Amino acid sequence: MRIFELAKELNISSKDLLAKLRAMGIEAPNHMSALADEQIAQVREAVGGKPAKPEAAPEKPAAAPEQPEPAPPATPEPEKVEPPAENVYIVKGPIIVKEFADVLKLKPNQLIAELMMMNIFAAINATIDFKVAQKVGEKHGVKVEQEKAAPPPPPPPPPPSKKKEKKEEEEAKGGEELRPPVVTFLGHVDHGKTSLLDYIRKSSVVDGEDGGITQHIGAYMVEHMDRPITFLDTPGHAAFTAMRARGANLTDIAVLVIAGDDGVMPQTREAIQHAQAAEVAIIVAINKSDLPGSNPDRVKQQLQEMGLTPEDWGGDIICCPVSAHTGQGMDHLLEMILLQADMLELKANPRQSARGFVIEARLEPGMGPTATFLVSDGTLKVGDAVVCGSTWGRVKALMNDKGHKVRTAGPAAPVKVMGLTSVPDAGSEFIACASDREARSIAESRQEQNRMENLTAPQRASLDNLFSQISENAQQTLNLVLKADVKGSVEAIEQMLQGIKSDKVSLNLVLTGVGNITENDILLATASNAIVVGFHVSAEGGAKAAAKRSGVEIRLYSVIYELFDQIKEAMTGMLEPEFKQRVIGRAEVRQVFSLSKRGKVAGCMVTDGRATSRAKVRVLRKNDVVFEGSLASLKRFQNDAAEVREGQDCGIRLDNFSDYQEGDTLEFYEIDKIAQAL
Ligand code: GDP
Repeated sequence: MRIFELAKELNISSKDLLAKLRAMGIEAPNHMSALADEQIAQVREAVGGKPAKPEAAPEKPAAAPEQPEPAPPATPEPEKVEPPAENVYIVKGPIIVKEFADVLKLKPNQLIAELMMMNIFAAINATIDFKVAQKVGEKHGVKVEQEKAAPPPPPPPPPPSKKKEKKEEEEAKGGEELRPPVVTFLGHVDHGKTSLLDYIRKSSVVDGEDGGITQHIGAYMVEHMDRPITFLDTPGHAAFTAMRARGANLTDIAVLVIAGDDGVMPQTREAIQHAQAAEVAIIVAINKSDLPGSNPDRVKQQLQEMGLTPEDWGGDIICCPVSAHTGQGMDHLLEMILLQADMLELKANPRQSARGFVIEARLEPGMGPTATFLVSDGTLKVGDAVVCGSTWGRVKALMNDKGHKVRTAGPAAPVKVMGLTSVPDAGSEFIACASDREARSIAESRQEQNRMENLTAPQRASLDNLFSQISENAQQTLNLVLKADVKGSVEAIEQMLQGIKSDKVSLNLVLTGVGNITENDILLATASNAIVVGFHVSAEGGAKAAAKRSGVEIRLYSVIYELFDQIKEAMTGMLEPEFKQRVIGRAEVRQVFSLSKRGKVAGCMVTDGRATSRAKVRVLRKNDVVFEGSLASLKRFQNDAAEVREGQDCGIRLDNFSDYQEGDTLEFYEIDKIAQAL
């Protein structure tokens, strides 16, 4: 029996059980580890607290708990207990530990120990939650029920009142709760990603109260064992990494779909590397189990060869045989997703204001701009002001994935949002703001920033700037995507590169593969801030364009030692230095003051980064650079300042230039001496 199975039987979390095992001196690396029969007996005894029959337990699953006596249980408080029939405990008032222990025929300290295993620390006279009592009761064969027409359970009344909500907002920090997992399907084409998603969506609709058709809003939420799971609707690692390249790291768990009759294919391997680069948990779904040619063992063998050892072979990769056609194994897959989510301990604070990412956006006739938001933290409400990339709006209406209007959307929930002033970019982040004004002003300053960024190429990793980035502490790892013509070359280069020793830089091969450089490779490089290195391969047209757009460096080699030497040089900083500009901040001219003697002063607001008195500066008007030079003075209020930070006002005079105009942007930069590559 595995730890998670025993945890389920004992009604405690796998994590708590692992802790307990450790305390008992039982070694177990993770929730997938199997326990010996005698260990199971030991645990059952310790947790279940049934000293009367220590040996009797192991063989029997908890489904048929043996009742101590079939006779009516002793009822210490007649008005609370309905004795006869099938051990039903009707709750009429608070559930007190001591009394409840009697009902369960346990000693109070046994019950207290059990509660502790559930992370509940209750004294003998403490009251316990109805739901907790239900769980514990179930384990002991006692059904705990609320008295009909009884007042709501006394301990924690969950629906938060509005007044309380406000109060809690203040105390919100640290008030994190478990949130549902966000799941993406990855894998080789035609292995069944879409079919699995469809199967899950359809079966959840059939179960649903409305029986309607789910809306395609980019993601949807289903319930399994009363717990929600969010699935992103666009399967495949290209979409997954494209979102990540835009900064939206949404996925918690990647389900790697492998057709059992086809096994691991090139894109399966690629998908694994994309998932690993994103550091998300991986669960394997071996699909098409209904086909006679399906061979799960062969798939597991292939996985193991790639270093992903299946849990039933002693590793920690959960493999679930499934069929999107027959539905076989699907419940198990969903259960494993929830288990993995438990292990990840995903948390969010539903009481704070919302933030998250745009997963889809468009202009809809009659509705204006709409976007699907995936809330990562907090709760989004109708009426909230939001800034979203460089657009903003006030949430007029929210619609969930079932097509229902809702008033709020909590952590991990996907919702379609109406009320934005323009269509945001997919992948951009949204944040709920205190007021429309704030949202609007942030959006406007971002528009300006975007305009500026369009003027200069995006700064990504390159061998040239590797060392300057290190000195800023921004990058200590050289991330590489390596593509070569044949497998042998990939392995040889990999081995040579791994042999480079550098104190300052470590090498991380984000992806290695055979074949030309594709757009997907560029996406991954963008998301991982990697350089793409090709050996005896070329970059496909789309890849070249994508690299140019996103500023990814591609280096092509045909001589292996050249490749090796250049990377080694870059990593060991043995190159001639070069000088490069680095933008450190921007300010906007808000007002121009004329001083009689000393010309004009620009009253500015630093909109991002910082302004320093020693920095170089260029003045931008619309898209044109109208002046480039250095600062004559930088003042905050009346005093000279060495540095003024984002959000602060300052007065600036430039050397040999005073033709500032309101709305001009000052861009500050420093000049770095950096190691060269070539
Ligand atoms: P995707 O490219 O990974 O999204 O794959 P699809 O979901 O489009 O499926 C590719 C093909 O495999 C389709 O013809 C599906 O009908 C078929 N397929 C998907 N799942 C199963 C399955 O469990 N059993 C069988 N027999 N066929 C499947």
